[in-house]
Amino acid sequence: MDKAADLSKTAAFVALEDEVGAHNYHPLDVVIERAAGVWVWDVDGKKYLDCLAAYSAVNQGHCHPVIVEALVTQSRRVALTSRAFRNDQLGPFFQELKRLTGFDRVLPMNTGAEAVETAIKAARKWAYEVKGVPAGQAEILVFTGNFHGRTTMIVGFSSEEQYKRGFGPFAPGFTMLPYGDADAVEAAMNPNVAAVLVEPIQGEAGIVVPPDGYLKRLREITSRHDALLVVDEIQSGLGRTGKMWAYEHEDIRPDVVIMGKALSGGLYPVSAIVADNPIMDVFQPGDHGSTYGGNPVAAAVGLAALRVLVEERMIENSAQLGRYLLDRLRAVDSPHVAEVRGRGLWVGIELVPGAGGARRFCEALRDEGVLCKETHENVIRVAPPLVITREELDWALVRLERVLTA
Ligand SMILES: *Cc1c(COP(=O)(O)O)cnc(C)c1O
Repeated sequence: MDKAADLSKTAAFVALEDEVGAHNYHPLDVVIERAAGVWVWDVDGKKYLDCLAAYSAVNQGHCHPVIVEALVTQSRRVALTSRAFRNDQLGPFFQELKRLTGFDRVLPMNTGAEAVETAIKAARKWAYEVKGVPAGQAEILVFTGNFHGRTTMIVGFSSEEQYKRGFGPFAPGFTMLPYGDADAVEAAMNPNVAAVLVEPIQGEAGIVVPPDGYLKRLREITSRHDALLVVDEIQSGLGRTGKMWAYEHEDIRPDVVIMGKALSGGLYPVSAIVADNPIMDVFQPGDHGSTYGGNPVAAAVGLAALRVLVEERMIENSAQLGRYLLDRLRAVDSPHVAEVRGRGLWVGIELVPGAGGARRFCEALRDEGVLCKETHENVIRVAPPLVITREELDWALVRLERVLTA
């Protein structure tokens, strides 16, 4: 930080957090105190355009008034009942998700990782009870570069050494295959495979877009081998790629869809899985649950978040401005850029190895008023809220172009 910043409120908050918090993150030193739509303001009054959108949790824009209203109103009525009793918000929320996905049933949780755990439980129990896999033998196929959350079970099948180091022993039952290679999935198929767990586009790996037809082939292979296709749409879903669900780009219907993040528009942790009866019916009372999962505030917020996403045409905006963003970034003539890829308002700028890493570009962008975050060493992720306008996007693009060509 420079000298002027050393005297700022920012520096004081950064110092406090670093002193008393665990050091499990390496954030950019921007201390945000309020936000609206695509904009955030720091404690020193500086304004930024948010091009991360909390990893796609705020697709609907920060503090969307309709979602805030749902949160406040429901908080005053009843916030938590636990699922020991019923509440009047849960059914309508489920109904809306059913309508938007076309699946029979919904199982709500809170964080994305919990929804992934839920999907794994569903797939394994389905394998034993419906498919007939011998007890304890169920296998789940996963992919290099995957990101499905941070629980000990989930990090156990990560290909990222840092996510696992020091946290073992890990749960068995997962087989790692190269992402994007459908032939490898075909070759790995055997009667014990319960499911293939896949991100339609890998977000944390650096917006990695698989070859065209990949999901279609996974659908065909899993169907032929009587295994489930489980898609993790926690980051790719809810409009990010220009469709409600990223799997729609390949016209397939998976067996289980995992969602989270923007399911609440950033107001509250809300996640869920959806599936049809033959899978969801493996859960009997007492098999699985969560104290906060499906609470009335979560349901009210989730319903509002889904409604504004659709009614305010944010998904169409993502498709339209996403194409524009990709075209503009691909046209940038920079010696630092190796590749620009993405779909919808979700773009990864991969830098060449000699560029000095994505972090310094994200710091330069912050100084220009644009908040991006590096993913791994060499990728800058650009993923603004889906409410962004053409003018706001142009404002960010001028700064991106300046920083990338400096
Ligand atoms: C963020 C994310 C998760 C984990 O969600 P949390 O709410 O952080 O637990 C899982 N899968 C994908 C694809 C994600 O992007």
